[in-house]
Amino acid sequence: MYILIMLIVVLIKTTYDNSANKSIEKNMLVEEIRAGFASEKLEKSSSKNTDVLQKYHRWTKQVKKEVVYFPLPEPVDNAKFKITFENSWMLERTYGGKRGHEGCDLMVANSKAGTCPVVSMTDGTITNLGWTEKGGYRIGVTSDSGTYYYYAHLHSFGNKKRGDTVIAGEVIGFMGDSGYGEEGKTGKFPVHLHVGIYKYDKGMEISVNPYYILQKCKRQKLKYHF
Ligand SMILES: [Zn+2]
Repeated sequence: MYILIMLIVVLIKTTYDNSANKSIEKNMLVEEIRAGFASEKLEKSSSKNTDVLQKYHRWTKQVKKEVVYFPLPEPVDNAKFKITFENSWMLERTYGGKRGHEGCDLMVANSKAGTCPVVSMTDGTITNLGWTEKGGYRIGVTSDSGTYYYYAHLHSFGNKKRGDTVIAGEVIGFMGDSGYGEEGKTGKFPVHLHVGIYKYDKGMEISVNPYYILQKCKRQKLKYHF
């Protein structure tokens, strides 16, 4: 009996250590990426001297290649409509514990929740649709290359459901201010669209900075009536 208990203790400890190591490894990877790509200068520099940075650079290139549209279309006849966004990737966020901001926030001045459509940046499949505490109403689209595009804080969804295929430019939802609480919570921050882009490496989910990708496709906006 004693031996059995000890065996279970050892097993649990090994599993725990493995997951702790994994999370340390992930943090190191994220830290390295963050250190290397925090500024535009480094993004453009040719000295990608570590495996991690090379890998990261390859991912960014892949994503830039498959993105077809900017996620927010422009209205056909509203000259005042203006989208702004900054490089806030990995800046500190505190809701739900200290963490880095794994995305880019698109703001539209004086925007009301539920008015601006959100379109899929790529072809793919809807792999997540529904509420999460941090993301509010969110949609996850997995592209054919396996990249995960995460659109959060939506006001509402389009006509799609989980498992549906989507083509680039199709409306998947409407911009809002949902999240940071129980299902349906709104108003904890201004209306905006949070875009996250993730790659998978050895079972780890790694955030890619969407800022440079959004910069690259910012002229690829659709025009819709809204
Ligand atoms: Zn955000």
